[in-house]
Amino acid sequence: MGSKNLKFNSKTIHGGQQPDKAYGAVMPPIYQTSTYAQNTPGGHKGFEYSRSANPTRTALENALASIENGTHGLAFASGLAAMDAVIKLLSPGDEVVSTNDLYGGSYRLFKQIFEKYGIIFHFIGMQDAHKIEEHINNKTKLIWVETPTNPMMNIIDIKAVSKLAVRHNVLLAVDNTFATPYLQQPLNLGADIVMHSATKYLGGHSDVILGALVVKDEVLANQLYFIQNASGAVCGPMDSFLVLRGIKTLHVRMQRHCENGMAIANYLSNHPKIEKVYWPGFENHPNHDIAKEQMNGYGGMISFITKGASYDDAIKIVEKLQVFTLAESLGGVESLAGHPASMTHASIPKEEREKSGVVDALIRLSVGIEDELDLISDLEQAIG
Ligand SMILES: *Cc1c(COP(=O)(O)O)cnc(C)c1O
Repeated sequence: MGSKNLKFNSKTIHGGQQPDKAYGAVMPPIYQTSTYAQNTPGGHKGFEYSRSANPTRTALENALASIENGTHGLAFASGLAAMDAVIKLLSPGDEVVSTNDLYGGSYRLFKQIFEKYGIIFHFIGMQDAHKIEEHINNKTKLIWVETPTNPMMNIIDIKAVSKLAVRHNVLLAVDNTFATPYLQQPLNLGADIVMHSATKYLGGHSDVILGALVVKDEVLANQLYFIQNASGAVCGPMDSFLVLRGIKTLHVRMQRHCENGMAIANYLSNHPKIEKVYWPGFENHPNHDIAKEQMNGYGGMISFITKGASYDDAIKIVEKLQVFTLAESLGGVESLAGHPASMTHASIPKEEREKSGVVDALIRLSVGIEDELDLISDLEQAIG
């Protein structure tokens, strides 16, 4: 049976996969090799050098294409390396319209690397898709969307943005790291490129750095493949294997992330010391209707502000947590807490980050899959 017709919860396990050709290994072996024997120059079995292709990476790339409902997957050394490949589609003078409240490292890549090469970025709030149009001109080549946004949990209407992108003949890329294809499938909503930091939910176990792109167009796939091979920021076979293994339980983990996320969001919003909780599942979240329409759940990412808390108060709370680990990153089975102003978003200037709501008191949680009662008692003792 072709894996194309499977439901999502089976695609995570079987999508694009088949037993290994050599011995029928059910999991693809870790082909820890840089090169492949040829019987005559150019006479090889589809693999000649592991920067260009490696069977373990190919197995992962096929799985990625399957779960995102695309035709081609490309795996990279990190999420940022995957983004780097997308921006390399552009030339000096080209313009990009990007979400303003996005992953700090993405902002740094755009601003501090690619602006030097003459690419122009406009960072704007995209909750109102019509606002985007004001920033599109004949130099615009790409719209970069991150939704839910990090760490403010704003939701951007992918379908509405994709209509704009089509009208202006501009590529639309969506960073789907927070939602994962379990919750949201951007290619189905009209995006051209889906990007992942597979370091997060796809890998799911906080043991690997890896990035991915998925597309549904042959020409675009070939352009990106050219860049992947020519720039060379590929992932190794061991890392490919780990992410492939992670993907097999994505649907089960995400289900629990969503359940625990809801429990924690409700607990925090009823807590007398908490001023504000950012979670798209609340009916009074400003973009709740869009979230409800384009997502199959609300995930385990939550940000909150404690009443009257200073920079130092927020740091004290994250230091007191014991079940939640104070750490960068997100999306693993274990719960993590972070202080964006001093950690993930420290590379964004204070005025810039406060404009999008990343204030000193903000704390971000990546709710894991532990027992929700342990997570709630931990927050209780830390918030006091
Ligand atoms: C972590 C992250 C990235 C960068 O990915 P790396 O794998 O760390 O390079 C990009 N976007 C989002 C939303 C992220 O959370």
